[in-house]
Amino acid sequence: MVDGRVLLDGGAPLLPHMHRLGMDPGDIQVVFLTHFHGDHTLGLPPFVLHRVFVDRRPLTFVGPSGVAEHLEKLWEVSWGADWKRVMRPQFKVKYVTARTSGTAARIRYESVKLDHGTMGSNGYRIHVNGKIVAYSGDTEPTAPLDKLVNGADVAIVEATGPGDVFSHMSWEAARKLRKRHPHTRFLFNHVYSGTVTGAVKDLQVIEV
Ligand SMILES: [Zn+2]
Ligand SMILES: [Zn+2]
Repeated sequence: MVDGRVLLDGGAPLLPHMHRLGMDPGDIQVVFLTHFHGDHTLGLPPFVLHRVFVDRRPLTFVGPSGVAEHLEKLWEVSWGADWKRVMRPQFKVKYVTARTSGTAARIRYESVKLDHGTMGSNGYRIHVNGKIVAYSGDTEPTAPLDKLVNGADVAIVEATGPGDVFSHMSWEAARKLRKRHPHTRFLFNHVYSGTVTGAVKDLQVIEV
């Protein structure tokens, strides 16, 4: 979550974590989705339920192509026939396929296609209050990742584990990435167990 109004992916358990941090889920104006793997999307159905029944402010999803179809399918799997009949008419949503650069809900962004298994991942550079936050989602440590983080104030990048991690970035590669971009503050997430220097802690809040 960035600046209380931007959400980067939506893994579970999203809604309880927001409440624990004292964040209002209704304040989120735009969700940037890197890809559709479950660990990045399955916190969204309860979040959307909140937006349908508790706080009906409009919401924008920016994601890879197919974002509307994929998410509508997810809502239908989650809520069955009631989704289309009762909930969808009350949901003020806009789905946007990410462009190389654009603006969504008044947030300026650039997107960079990253390597991640067969699905790939859309990395984002988000411009907030004069700063740039780069967010990778899942990625391999290939050239597009350097393009994504280059010159960013903060980079939230995955570092899955030590050694050979299929379709992800290893801790060794994460250390090298950090060395190549000494002026960027790295926050490593998606750590499957153990830890690496710069790893985020659960529910960590940082000021930039
Ligand atoms: Zn993934
Ligand atoms: Zn993942």
